Amino acid sequence: MPEHHNIIIVGAGLSGLYTAYKLQQIEQDIVLLEARDRTGGRILSGFCMGSPFDLGPAWVWPQMQLRLDQLISDLNLDVFKQHTQGDMLFEQHVSQFERYRGQSSHSESYRVSGGNQMLIEGLEKQLRVSSIRLNTTVKSIAKSGLRIEAVHKEKSVAYTANKIIFALPPRLFQKNITFTPAFSETIVQLWEGTPTWMSTHCKIIFVYEQPFWREQNLSGEVFSHPGPLSEIYDGSPQDEKLYALTAFVGLNAQQRNNMDQNRLIHSCLAQLQRLFGDVSQNTLDIHIKDWSCDEFSCTDLDVNSPVQHPQYPQHAPRKFWGNKLFLAGAEVAPEYGGYLEGALESADRVVAAVVSN
Ligand SMILES: Cc1cc2nc3c(=O)[nH]c(=O)nc-3n(C[C@H](O)[C@H](O)[C@H](O)COP(=O)(O)OP(=O)(O)OC[C@H]3O[C@@H](n4cnc5c(N)ncnc54)[C@H](O)[C@@H]3O)c2cc1C
Repeated sequence: MPEHHNIIIVGAGLSGLYTAYKLQQIEQDIVLLEARDRTGGRILSGFCMGSPFDLGPAWVWPQMQLRLDQLISDLNLDVFKQHTQGDMLFEQHVSQFERYRGQSSHSESYRVSGGNQMLIEGLEKQLRVSSIRLNTTVKSIAKSGLRIEAVHKEKSVAYTANKIIFALPPRLFQKNITFTPAFSETIVQLWEGTPTWMSTHCKIIFVYEQPFWREQNLSGEVFSHPGPLSEIYDGSPQDEKLYALTAFVGLNAQQRNNMDQNRLIHSCLAQLQRLFGDVSQNTLDIHIKDWSCDEFSCTDLDVNSPVQHPQYPQHAPRKFWGNKLFLAGAEVAPEYGGYLEGALESADRVVAAVVSN
């Protein structure tokens, strides 16, 4: 017999967890099915000697992202300002760079104390332990009986529900989940045309004992044409027990795939050396996360998409199958599409829709 629940949420990233948190507050019977062996989705921390470093999203803007501001307060978390004091560097060609005293592009950006992972841990603590099923990859959904077939540790498992909420990017569920009956070509094209924000990026964190760039009156912020790191920022945690430079790799996913990872790291270190000097070679730890290689975040369509922030559709349908299948997730938020705030915005909308239908 399949396991039955009133509401099943597919995906335990920020959007799925926040949807579950809101539905649990109104006494709904919910279960979250999550493919990975961890919650958080694109939110992920790397740790060095207990200090957290954001390998996924780092920045929040609580001054205009009111849901995120509220959640941070509800979970008793704090934010701190992105470190931007000091000059920026602009590297035009290899070994040819200039110092700028200009305004940083992140002077109004904030970070969550303890890393964005704190949002995930905070939400998880509010949920009943039994409501999250890890290592459970949803493979197919049938309208008849609202039946979900999933794989848990190589075994098939089945669930039924009164309502199902998808809290994952449309490109992912369109590619990996079979719907019976199939959706129309118009809907399939809409989902395939909705890029998963930042899913093709590769982030590298260089951890240090000392903030040598600050000692040179540099903010750590760098924009580079030759790369391989195209953007670099100060990624130090708030407690400053350790310090970090956090960087985005400028090579695209295909170029990275064709390159040995040790060679990539080696050329990133060479770039840091020409920008900041020999002291930059004293890394305590290096964390690398290439999101384009992660099957639960990125699809082939994303790998071939432009990297600019997309315009997400304002009026796309988010309810299907006679108000039994609903869409949440950052990529279906009309106002803050792609962002953490969008993950919460879409969840709030879905909770209101589920309750009223
Ligand atoms: C490198 C990087 C930097 C970013 N920087 C910022 C930033 O500074 N500020 C900002 O606001 N946003 C940023 N973002 C975007 C932010 O991470 C997302 O908006 C947010 O995390 C989306 O949350 P979500 O829950 O909607 O989706 P996800 O986090 O993608 O969660 C979807 C969940 O569904 C699960 N799943 C997938 N397939 C299945 C399946 N078949 N069955 C079951 N479960 C499945 C996944 O494992 C995942 O846990 C960044 C993202 C990345 C990758």
